Amino acid sequence: MPHLYLHVPFCQRRCSYCDFSIAVRKRIPAREYVDAVLQELKLLGTTDPGRQPGDFGGESLQTLYLGGGTPSLLPPEAISVLLTSLLDVFRATSSRDAVEVTLEANPEDVKLESATAWRNAGVNRVSLGAQSFDDGVLQWMHRSHDATRIGEAVRALRAAGFENISLDLIFALPAELERDWTRDLDLACSLLPAHLSLYGLTVEERTPLARWISRGAVRPSEDERYADEYLLAHTRLASCGYRFYEVSNACRDGLRSRHNSAYWSGRPYQGLGPAAHSFDGRVRRWNVRAWETYRRALAAGNPVVEAEELLTEEQRELERWYLALRTDAGLPLAALRRPLPPAATRWVERGWAETREQRLVCTPEGWLRLDALVGDLTGVAGAV
Ligand code: SF4
Repeated sequence: MPHLYLHVPFCQRRCSYCDFSIAVRKRIPAREYVDAVLQELKLLGTTDPGRQPGDFGGESLQTLYLGGGTPSLLPPEAISVLLTSLLDVFRATSSRDAVEVTLEANPEDVKLESATAWRNAGVNRVSLGAQSFDDGVLQWMHRSHDATRIGEAVRALRAAGFENISLDLIFALPAELERDWTRDLDLACSLLPAHLSLYGLTVEERTPLARWISRGAVRPSEDERYADEYLLAHTRLASCGYRFYEVSNACRDGLRSRHNSAYWSGRPYQGLGPAAHSFDGRVRRWNVRAWETYRRALAAGNPVVEAEELLTEEQRELERWYLALRTDAGLPLAALRRPLPPAATRWVERGWAETREQRLVCTPEGWLRLDALVGDLTGVAGAV
């Protein structure tokens, strides 16, 4: 498995929309976290003889992604220890920069000093949680940074030698926030990031946002706003030289996320850390979610896999279709019955999909309806 994900669960507060598996901490238990991850690594080879650390069937590590949570809250020394261990154990034999090493960071954690330390530790790509350039919106989201911090963070990263910088933005916010999406897109482009990830706001249970909505303090965005802003992003970013290569991701100069592309092409990956998922091509496993449960189990020498599921051939095919249609590579027509099923033909007639080089590829309008397309193709409405 040449793709490795490390989940760092710590955040300083919970954003209003977030239901991720996080541990809100004022003091980051960095040493306990590093010890726990290294212990999980040690146990990997003992709990399942088929899952020896570093055993990728001859392939060396290609990508390592530190996600969260907020990995940038870890002190740089802890990041350095983790990367040294992981890159050694997972046999990154070639030059370190051949491995795409991504760190998710919040703008308030990026200073020239920290960015230089990350770069020296082997990080070569940073995904920055910008979300918006509107201070009112950032406060509403419970984010810790203000808009000016985003530009300062990008400049600090560049000064530290990072060229591969990605910005996350959230769209389809409630109308009453009066967020100017065009302005945010333009400000993001003006920073010339290599990559942009755009996510529509979703209302997850047990979040502050869900509570605001249930008591009528906020109205969720309408589907029409979601579609309008999504399509606007396509035209605006295209005019700045970005190309969407996946439903939520655009890049310039071919600088795709190699790690996430591995997920979308169904490649196996190994996850470490609380709530991390792993996939070997047939079986999906996931770790216990809560940080304290994870830490205690490892301190006692116990494994942390909470459960696993064996995917049937049918499930794997459905997943392959769905993942392929998320990307600009599309779905090989050979995977479908020939000739094109009537459902797919209707999508092409409506301009929601195109056939290109023997593949069915979604247009932006099609990406807005992705679940419905997969349901149409398989005859299982809402199948994925
Ligand atoms: S920083 Fe990210 S992971 Fe942490 S609460 Fe906010 S959205 Fe969730």
